[in-house]
Amino acid sequence: MNYEHVPCIICKSFDTTLRFSKPWGDDEVFTLVRCKHCGLEFVNPRPFYNDMPQYYKGYFDKRTDRGYSDYFSKAMQTEVLRLLALNLADLNFYEFESTLPDTRYALDIGCAAGYFVDYMAKRGWKSSGIDIAPDCINYATTKLHVDAYCDDFLTFNFTNTYHLITLWATIEHLHYPDRFLEKIFSLLHDDGLLYISTCRSSIWSPRILFGKRWRYYNFPHHLYFFSYATLAKLLQLKGFTITRFATYGSGIGKAGSTIRTVADGLAKKLYLGDMMLIAAKKQKHTFNC
Ligand SMILES: [Zn+2]
Repeated sequence: MNYEHVPCIICKSFDTTLRFSKPWGDDEVFTLVRCKHCGLEFVNPRPFYNDMPQYYKGYFDKRTDRGYSDYFSKAMQTEVLRLLALNLADLNFYEFESTLPDTRYALDIGCAAGYFVDYMAKRGWKSSGIDIAPDCINYATTKLHVDAYCDDFLTFNFTNTYHLITLWATIEHLHYPDRFLEKIFSLLHDDGLLYISTCRSSIWSPRILFGKRWRYYNFPHHLYFFSYATLAKLLQLKGFTITRFATYGSGIGKAGSTIRTVADGLAKKLYLGDMMLIAAKKQKHTFNC
């Protein structure tokens, strides 16, 4: 297998320190590095983009220690929508929505089975999604009958601009988060918002308790691990200003247990979650004559 060695997407520097390595299968190992200049953590070296499909075989329907046991089940749809409703409330979405014109456009990048695309369509939005996973888009278009495309966001030819663009738990999977943000900037309405949810690499989160066993260190599905500071820096470089920030999730205790409920509650209240939510808008430029 061949791999590519990449610089930091914020500083363009190859100057990194090694964090740790984790095996994939029987004969591959992936290494997490930390940029010496900005602190961004990323997997390096990594598989080439065109080699990624083999790492995602069974990701949505055969859970091992990664992925999902059955992403297309009714139970999973209910759980995804429950979580997204919490995320939307944390991001003040309903207030934002009330300021928009009647005809409004939403794009969900990495839309998977299209649950959020469907949710927005049912709220009256012109709602679209895009994902590179064929089985997901097949489900979205044939079962949910939503507007969704199996294609590469970076090369797809969009004809609209959007009032809301979402990257739900997607940016950490991308080979080119920087290029995605550049294209999102060009597709976003001047008064529109970008929502991002992603795992949060911070010493101020339960991540620190788990070390290399942290639940989101699944290489090479996840390639980038942002802190608030590194994501804010990248967004700023690409022309965005953050308008809202929240965290949630702890990973402490078993799902459904009292310990988990208490830990998740505290994590959210104290901004200690190991997931983060960000709303960002385009920076407004003023020109002096
Ligand atoms: Zn850097």
